[in-house]
Amino acid sequence: MAQEADFKCLRCGTITKLPYSPDAELQERACPKCKSNSMRRIKEQKEARAAK
Ligand SMILES: [Zn+2]
Repeated sequence: MAQEADFKCLRCGTITKLPYSPDAELQERACPKCKSNSMRRIKEQKEARAAK
């Protein structure tokens, strides 16, 4: 069962939605713009809000 998550490219700053599966945390993802695989998942706002 695939879900989607927002990913941000650490190289060019592009934010894109990509399929995300909790079982494959180390899955490689390539930026659609610069082809870098330095994509980091953006956590949802509600998590940041819960902090302290
Ligand atoms: Zn990029």
